[in-house]
Amino acid sequence: MRTLSLLAAAIFTTLSTASASGPGKENDFGGKRVLLIGVDGCRADALRAAMESGRAPAFRSLAKEGCADWSVFAGGEIGGATEQATKSGPGWSTVLTGVWRDRHGVGSNKFEQHRIAQNPHFMRRIKDAKPSAFCASLVNWVQIHDFIADPSRADGAEFLDAKVSLRPDPAKHASDWPEFDAMIRDRAVALLRDKNPDALFVYFGQVDETGHAEVDRAGKFSADNVPYLDAIGRVDALTADVLAALRARPHFAEEDWLILATTDHGGIHTDHGKQTPDERNIWLLAHGGPFRGGAVLDQKCGHSIVPPTIFKHLGLAIDPAWGWDKTPLLPPAK
Ligand SMILES: [Zn+2]
Repeated sequence: MRTLSLLAAAIFTTLSTASASGPGKENDFGGKRVLLIGVDGCRADALRAAMESGRAPAFRSLAKEGCADWSVFAGGEIGGATEQATKSGPGWSTVLTGVWRDRHGVGSNKFEQHRIAQNPHFMRRIKDAKPSAFCASLVNWVQIHDFIADPSRADGAEFLDAKVSLRPDPAKHASDWPEFDAMIRDRAVALLRDKNPDALFVYFGQVDETGHAEVDRAGKFSADNVPYLDAIGRVDALTADVLAALRARPHFAEEDWLILATTDHGGIHTDHGKQTPDERNIWLLAHGGPFRGGAVLDQKCGHSIVPPTIFKHLGLAIDPAWGWDKTPLLPPAK
């Protein structure tokens, strides 16, 4: 009897290992997977201008084959408990935890008095539900790992199966960000070739740094600014390479990828942080799953909608105690 149950346990272990984080449908989600592309500091009107001027064919095809929502906001509800600075610390905290400052506590890029441990990164919650899932995060703004991913660990246990933290040279004052974005692209392409991620976050920083006039002295956050639009174009080209790697996966036809792309905030002149429409108005592209046909959505949601939309695609339950948006991003009504 004892031998039998040990044998049964061994078989079960083998089966569950074989079914998790393999290619095609051999994962915990029946082939469903998620790629989240984060473009720092990208105004909605500027992304549209880049798409319309032919600078952003990859984002344009995501919108054309999938769906685009240009009514998304950063910064929480003005005057409410969720109001937060339109800065990267609070913004990426919201995109990755699904909650606002009233819960994650992040008020600035210093992350003082954050409550990320109580409101962790959505990939921690994926691993809680499916310990054999493969979650990966590739960033060159390392605060995302230092202050959002690492404090999300339960009892210090790493939940990211692949974690790339690249740090541009501080002496170059962010002018080297395009090179570091290209390195992120290289790592994402390799990961999609060599591993079988269930959830992958890929972050690009040069659009924001161009808005701040760091990559190009003539840059600013504007839909009319050529350096800023060109930076969006360069990130589009990197995104195209990541999408090509995804589509080149040997079992791609059996995989059901939800591709989401969004930003943490917009910008005005050469800065951001306040609550003007130029800083608050952002965007979300969704491609795959039920998001198809080129529909323009108008859900007027915050970028907090990213984690519940991912959980819905993966078929994972959401605990109301987490405080996430009750409605995920919805495809167009039929
Ligand atoms: Zn910025």
